[in-house]
Amino acid sequence: MTKAGKIVIKVALFSIVMSVTCVLLALMFYKYGETEQRETLGPSLPVVVIDAGHGGADGGATGTDGTLEKNINLEMALTLGSILNANGIRTVLTRNEDTMLGSAVGTSKKMRDLLSRVETAGKYPDCIFVSLHANKYSDGKYKGLQVFYSDANEQNRVLANSLQDDVRTYLQPDNERVAKDSKGTVFILDRISSPSVLIECGFLSNEDDLRHLCDENYRKELCAVISSAVIDFLNKT
Ligand SMILES: [Zn+2]
Repeated sequence: MTKAGKIVIKVALFSIVMSVTCVLLALMFYKYGETEQRETLGPSLPVVVIDAGHGGADGGATGTDGTLEKNINLEMALTLGSILNANGIRTVLTRNEDTMLGSAVGTSKKMRDLLSRVETAGKYPDCIFVSLHANKYSDGKYKGLQVFYSDANEQNRVLANSLQDDVRTYLQPDNERVAKDSKGTVFILDRISSPSVLIECGFLSNEDDLRHLCDENYRKELCAVISSAVIDFLNKT
């Protein structure tokens, strides 16, 4: 390719990135107006419980460069919390540091960790529960965010579809995934009665996803899209 051709492609890519950023900012400001209205509703405003998967001795998946899932999850949780707070939404984080959690009950460290997350959700009956994870697969070609939900209630499916659709619309136009029923395979989703989803934010085994998830700006864009979908859901329910 000629040098001029490369420059044209770079300019086109820059324009696309700027357009996405503008759309996200517009969405956030638009939502802010809606959030102001909700605040007048008073203390019944729901809480968003943000769950950074794994932590401490449980690193979760490991990227090809040694990146640990637990750290990506925590960075995502902190960023998502900040954006939702800036939009007037109350948030609770199951963990805000690199640690395993511990319920008083449970037969193993892992079980006590998972039950602690369920217990946090149980403290806020009106909450929306968003668990953040990153994926890994033996074949590095698989990429893209994937949302999981339990079919225990219809609200889970609505929230999951909204998240998956918004990510496709604003951030990953080539992502053809649809939100998936976890079919009893995700421990926490089966034990939380509030609207809940688990988001696998990308594959640490895929070069592109790994690079994106390690990029603070990309994480901010992704969290802006997740916030937008969550606020949409809050406004409709
Ligand atoms: Zn995980």
